[in-house]
Amino acid sequence: MRIQRLPSQLINQIAAGEVVERPASVAKELMENALDAGARNLEVDVEQGGKRLIRIRDDGTGIHKGDLALALRRHTTSKISSMEDLEQVVSLGFRGEALPSIASISRLTISSHARDADQGWRIQADGRDDVSDPIPVSQAVGTSVEVRDLFFNTPARRKFLRADTTEFKHIDGLIRRIALSHFGVAIHLRHNQKTIHRLPVAEGVTQQEKRVAALCGTPFMKQALPVERSASGLSLEGWIALPTFSRSQSDLQFFFVNGRMVRDKFVSHAVRQAYSDVLYHGRHPAFVLYLELDPTAVDVNVHPAKHEVRFRDSRLIHDFLFHTIRDVLAGVRPGSVSAQPVPVRVSGQHATGPIQLRTLLQAKEQVRLYESLHPDRNDDSQPHRELPDNPTEDVPPLGFALAQLHGIYILAQNKDGLVLVDMHAAHERITYEFLKSAMQAEGIRRQPLLVPQAIAVSEREAELAEQRQTWFGELGFEIDRIGPEQLALRQLPAILGQADGVALVRDVLSDLMANNSTMRVEEAINSVLSTMACHGSVRANRQLTLDEMNALLRDMERTERSGQCNHGRPTWLQLGLKEVDSWFLRGR
Ligand code: ADP
Ligand code: MG
Repeated sequence: MRIQRLPSQLINQIAAGEVVERPASVAKELMENALDAGARNLEVDVEQGGKRLIRIRDDGTGIHKGDLALALRRHTTSKISSMEDLEQVVSLGFRGEALPSIASISRLTISSHARDADQGWRIQADGRDDVSDPIPVSQAVGTSVEVRDLFFNTPARRKFLRADTTEFKHIDGLIRRIALSHFGVAIHLRHNQKTIHRLPVAEGVTQQEKRVAALCGTPFMKQALPVERSASGLSLEGWIALPTFSRSQSDLQFFFVNGRMVRDKFVSHAVRQAYSDVLYHGRHPAFVLYLELDPTAVDVNVHPAKHEVRFRDSRLIHDFLFHTIRDVLAGVRPGSVSAQPVPVRVSGQHATGPIQLRTLLQAKEQVRLYESLHPDRNDDSQPHRELPDNPTEDVPPLGFALAQLHGIYILAQNKDGLVLVDMHAAHERITYEFLKSAMQAEGIRRQPLLVPQAIAVSEREAELAEQRQTWFGELGFEIDRIGPEQLALRQLPAILGQADGVALVRDVLSDLMANNSTMRVEEAINSVLSTMACHGSVRANRQLTLDEMNALLRDMERTERSGQCNHGRPTWLQLGLKEVDSWFLRGR
């Protein structure tokens, strides 16, 4: 067979294979075109999960009569015209591929009234190359794009479509992402004539939070901490959920780069790490975050559907995200402005996980440890607080202790009502943070190995270990390359055992190969400290005096991350007086 040029319909259908995976991809392209045209109002109509119809009507700038047919040609766009434009592109689209691709696999109608024209025009295409001549239509300024019978002429692809409800779920997810990233645009979504979302323009923080609550749920918004920081040309805004509002899946994670929703492994890695010290095992953090940076610092032309981007300096982005989120989480302590008490569920277990199992350990030993960690406990210069006569005056956030419940919980009274503190969980976090700062102040102690441990690695890993020798040294490791695929571990942080050391070095190298960054050493050290903290904390059934209880409450107020124990479980709950009143039908 000789080489021949493919018919242009087939070229478009091949391109459609990349851009249009399912109805939601069509919705995405049409929505993005409307947003690029400056729309403030979007009407989205979907029928049968988008298989039968997707229609998006906008009030943007519109398309000129003479440009209508051009919009359906391949590689035609009004958004860029040079390499320079491409390198700093701010529009969502720029490839000039979406409309011709969609037109080649559906029945497409575009009706548009350009802002400076005196009437609207309509063209139609039905999967073939020839496009109808424009006919006049009466419509307001803006554009309406209607896509019917998706994949009608590509039966093989139609077979991959799922049930209507599934396809609609994808469209709904897409609309949520758009709505979260374009607060200035009103969106009305209907499925089979039924309204699913009707979102007014959200101006100002209050309205924005209302929209986020509508899209991500009120519980998320109630337990969200605001994020706002800029540094080195980067700005991060949005909301992150308290660790106690975690999810079993990563379904509540929205990350936008310059208004574009992206999935990026550096980003997820940075966020996961920022939460690593406070999140309950196996849970996923929830967040809605907006990163803004100079468009030339990020390449958006990496993926035909633009789900991914490439950062020029991914290390910088990673560290900026990690530090920002970690700092916001560290600031969560009782009484901090952002800390929201965890809502109490009267029946059933708390959403974060099983109730902690306690072992009864020798109380005396624990207490001695507690006291050795807090030598100032018996210091007379520290006045012991008593319950004030007027409970609304000058009460610290966690209030004053009233009693101990079953040797497990501290009951305290504060301004809002009753505070319940899980004694062990709270003390564990306090001890842990104490040990961490002590470690930081002291520096890592090193321990040479009597017999160096050989570690077999790949050649690339051995090279990497060599390059990173100084870096390893700062973390307390001494590693030499002793062969093409052999390393010798000569020294490691004293706090880590020898057996773990070897495995750790291997894991660190594989992290570095994959992500160019790692927190494994810090995590391993923290995990040892966390275990020490657990053993060194007051256990259940230990009777505390009121003074001791109050001292613990005050420590909690001072300690970073004290809202969660080391395993991410909550350490305290607020039971509002109003809530208690309602149980007794008071004030009705
Ligand atoms: P791209 O968005 O990459 O430019 P598309 O194939 O999606 O390519 O669209 C082609 C062109 O059609 C756009 O550049 C734009 O000029 C025009 N267009 C498409 N949809 C709209 C719309 N809703 N409003 C105004 N212009 C539009
Ligand atoms: Mg487009």
